[in-house]
Amino acid sequence: MPFWICATCAVEHSERIEVCAICADDRQWVPADGQRWTSLTEMADAGYRAEVAEGEPDLWAISSRPGAGIGQQSKLIRTDAGCLLFDPIGFLDGAAVQRVGEIGPVAAIVASHPHMYGVQVEWSRVLGGVPVLVAEKDRRWVARHDAAIRTWADDVEILPGVTLTQPGGHFPGSAVAHWAAGADGKGALLSSDTIFANPDRSSVSFMRSYPNRLPLSGAVVDRIATHVGRFDFDRLYGNFDNVIPADAAEIVRWSADRHIGWARGDFDDLT
Ligand SMILES: [Zn+2]
Ligand SMILES: [Zn+2]
Repeated sequence: MPFWICATCAVEHSERIEVCAICADDRQWVPADGQRWTSLTEMADAGYRAEVAEGEPDLWAISSRPGAGIGQQSKLIRTDAGCLLFDPIGFLDGAAVQRVGEIGPVAAIVASHPHMYGVQVEWSRVLGGVPVLVAEKDRRWVARHDAAIRTWADDVEILPGVTLTQPGGHFPGSAVAHWAAGADGKGALLSSDTIFANPDRSSVSFMRSYPNRLPLSGAVVDRIATHVGRFDFDRLYGNFDNVIPADAAEIVRWSADRHIGWARGDFDDLT
């Protein structure tokens, strides 16, 4: 069965509908010249290539050049019990699939939220029917259904030492993955758009919409910071090449308090 990829967000769809619901939502955007659909074949013919790059030990980044849709970077975490593919990109090719297979069997595919669904079902199929976990609260955004999709809630230890949890905020089911062995055993958080690693590498942001600059309330930001404060982590990976290399837990709490202060008007006199 053919499927279609929204050219703007790179989320797979089983049908070419009039407009991608994920892009029409107030968190995203539809191009001025209208909805455009593409396909893996069209993208490959246009020169798209997927790349798998080694990060820290047992972590790889998967991206495409040029960037597909939003242009996210998947993370692949390896454990002795298999790999987690987090935030699957909206493109794949044979070379990348082979490389992922060499790194280790993928045990689960999880997108942090609907903007990051990419071609998650296609990744599942080319990797042999790997389970695709979708947050129960956000299941209505799935536009290509498949028997491999399972919904989840609360905390799930998807692999030994790799825990999925849903602080929410950006989407009701917005998730992060905690990797206890990351950052030399100090712990790493794959936080995607749930907690956005800023370009200054020393602060993070919490937004309903990043492209449309729509902030979350102070109460929700406090809840998100408290939620992830249960975990030990020193490094935080965003869903692009953005990263907080060290002291990430403290930076998340400090950034949350800064956000709350600004939203409350505490700093309006700052020059
Ligand atoms: Zn879209
Ligand atoms: Zn997003």
